[in-house]
Amino acid sequence: MEYKQIATYDNYLLANMTLGMLQENEIDCHLKDEYIVTVDPLLNPAVGGIKLMVSAHDFPAAGVLITEAENEYLKEIPCPFCKSCSLVVEEKTDRPDSFWGRMKNLVAYGQEELHQKYYRCQGCGGKVDEIPSSL
Ligand SMILES: [Zn+2]
Repeated sequence: MEYKQIATYDNYLLANMTLGMLQENEIDCHLKDEYIVTVDPLLNPAVGGIKLMVSAHDFPAAGVLITEAENEYLKEIPCPFCKSCSLVVEEKTDRPDSFWGRMKNLVAYGQEELHQKYYRCQGCGGKVDEIPSSL
């Protein structure tokens, strides 16, 4: 069975919550590098966070579930700047055109493409890197 990385997490709790949610929906998935991050958070940037791996077969369904769950969760989270509950997910993929650009990412991060994920407040336009944890 082939597995693909669907998301990365700096936050151990969030990674496990998402994993549990997917497993409840009978998605075949697991966490990778969880152990390293948990033992030593300082190593986190080096390994690129906790990786959520989903079987290629369940990948599209998992993507839908994650987005739904996240948007649901975001409705409850006030913006750290203006306190309005209007955060939305924004994603950016950096895939360099040049061979050397991709090689650089591969060497530095272990993958050719860099996915960036953050949250944007529709109220004040502020950018939030990580969901303010209310767990
Ligand atoms: Zn705001």
